Amino acid sequence: MLEDLKNNNRNWAAGKIAVDPGFFKRLENQQAPKYLWIGCSDSRVPANEIVGLDPGELFVHRNVANLAPPQDANYLSVLQFSVEVLKVEHIMVVGHYGCGGVSAAVDGKRRGLVDHWLHPIREVCHDHKHELAALDDDRARWDRLVELNVIRQVKNVAQDIFVQDAWASGQSLNVHGWVYSIADGLVRDLNVTVGSPEDVDRIL
Ligand code: ZN
Repeated sequence: MLEDLKNNNRNWAAGKIAVDPGFFKRLENQQAPKYLWIGCSDSRVPANEIVGLDPGELFVHRNVANLAPPQDANYLSVLQFSVEVLKVEHIMVVGHYGCGGVSAAVDGKRRGLVDHWLHPIREVCHDHKHELAALDDDRARWDRLVELNVIRQVKNVAQDIFVQDAWASGQSLNVHGWVYSIADGLVRDLNVTVGSPEDVDRIL
């Protein structure tokens, strides 16, 4: 099975060179993505493919349920490097409908360590319990919680000191909240883009 993957890899590399002989040489010499993608680990959400970008054009951080927790050294390292060194211009927090992580956060079942990881989603659920309770069915509540989680993570990113310092120094940087639909392959913009410290107060 792994031999198949290695064969696929050779075919992929050959295909890239056939279309663009300088492809890997260019990548080798420079990584200058303008975008940071913070998305879910879910295997059905292939970051650069969805938005039609090549490797080298999108810096990617993925974890279960696309969280941006202010205590997580992995996420913070990616954020600092993206903002201060790569100087990305856009950060997209991208959730997806049908997210198993979001559902696991609130289904009451015990799974172990991941329950701690998903704790921020239970906080989002609690903070919006009236809005969620007013929805018709479980699927609508799940979809809305996915959106609310993305919005909360946008806020986390925007309130981070690396992002605040970048704005203070005049760097152009926008943080966006998107939700991807596995059912039709389309991204929905939640229109919660934050491009300055003042914008943060406008979102939930
Ligand atoms: Zn997910």
